[in-house]
Amino acid sequence: MELGFFDGEFISMEERRVQLEDRGYQFGDGIYEATHVYNGKCFALDRHLARCRRSLRELRIPITYMDEELIAIHEDLIKKSGIKNGVIYFQITRGVAKRSHAFPESVVPLLSMTIRESKTNTKWQAEGISCTLFEDIRWLRCDIKTLNLLGNVLAKQASHDKNLQGTIQYRKDTNLITEGSSSNFFVVKDGVIWTHPISNLILKGVTRSILVEEIIPKLGYTLVEKAFSPEFARYADEAFATSTSLEVTPVVSLDGTTIGDGKPGEITKALLASYHELVKKECGALS
Ligand code: PMP
Repeated sequence: MELGFFDGEFISMEERRVQLEDRGYQFGDGIYEATHVYNGKCFALDRHLARCRRSLRELRIPITYMDEELIAIHEDLIKKSGIKNGVIYFQITRGVAKRSHAFPESVVPLLSMTIRESKTNTKWQAEGISCTLFEDIRWLRCDIKTLNLLGNVLAKQASHDKNLQGTIQYRKDTNLITEGSSSNFFVVKDGVIWTHPISNLILKGVTRSILVEEIIPKLGYTLVEKAFSPEFARYADEAFATSTSLEVTPVVSLDGTTIGDGKPGEITKALLASYHELVKKECGALS
């Protein structure tokens, strides 16, 4: 059963509770996180909470929830909803105040959450996905996980319009790929794994961090955190996208060019298998 949490209470998804002058609603003035639930347990929640704190700090939204409280609400949502495999979304907005751009005084940030059933697309993982390229038109603080997602929404729609599964964005001024519309992006060339470095131009994905800090060193692959062009990506041997929901999903075609032999690559498959091992270790099972 889907379930929501709003302003301190568990509520049904149908309940109408949005406050008209919530700054999240009017300005996109807030942050969010989405965490994968496997076997009734949140995966990598500590990393999501650390990123949430960073996003709040960068937007100068005060922290009014302890990690322990947020963890407890995540656990309650899982228990009350009965959902074993799904996604917990949470957002914190700057709060409710008379509409005016500058920060309001004496408002308390507002937390809302939802839990929904969802399953990783194992067909995509087995066969790979085809992606379109789209100019990255987002603002220059893509490192903050804010509610302002219009650039990402337009990017994602570009692949929907073409009946493709994903969108990879590139900056026109540099002709360099940044990331997917809601994923990080990697290529493999001559056995070396490439991905955009951490900067203001990409989100530091939790999945990306797990790969870069834990899995790639463990498997002994070489990684370069360096931006690359769409042409370089097209002629890579392998490519893949990472996110909380995609995990590690092979990309087998980019803007009409087949990548490698058009099948998920060996390094991509090894990274996904290792990611699944980590999930099993932390959550007990994959589903
Ligand atoms: N980049 C963007 C723009 C995203 O929206 C996401 C998904 N939240 C990611 C990367 C991947 O992040 P994560 O691995 O934490 O899901």
